[in-house]
Amino acid sequence: MHELSIALSIVEMAEEEAAARQARIRAVHLKLGRLSGVVKDALLASYDMAAAGTALEGSRLVIEEVPIVGYCAKCQARRGVDGVQWFLCPRCGSPISEILEGKELQVRALEIAE
Ligand SMILES: [Zn+2]
Repeated sequence: MHELSIALSIVEMAEEEAAARQARIRAVHLKLGRLSGVVKDALLASYDMAAAGTALEGSRLVIEEVPIVGYCAKCQARRGVDGVQWFLCPRCGSPISEILEGKELQVRALEIAE
């Protein structure tokens, strides 16, 4: 299960951070791109499983979904892209030449308990 191994590595990283700061982590904030290939709900469920019995037990995983942004060479501009299968510029209809955002899978912040 893809999401479980991702959740385990997030928990492991956060545990190290908690130990280094001698603090309790209340929440982990994660940026998750719509093209990351990770299913949000599955990751949330896996997180609770991965955190059980660790220093992270009882903490929350907060997922911030990152929309898809591409670059249109014809308009020479950044454009938000809706579809996941077809990347077309919403303005001129040309194929998007490069995906700029939406592949993120990145821990953005750790919330430390007081
Ligand atoms: Zn365009």
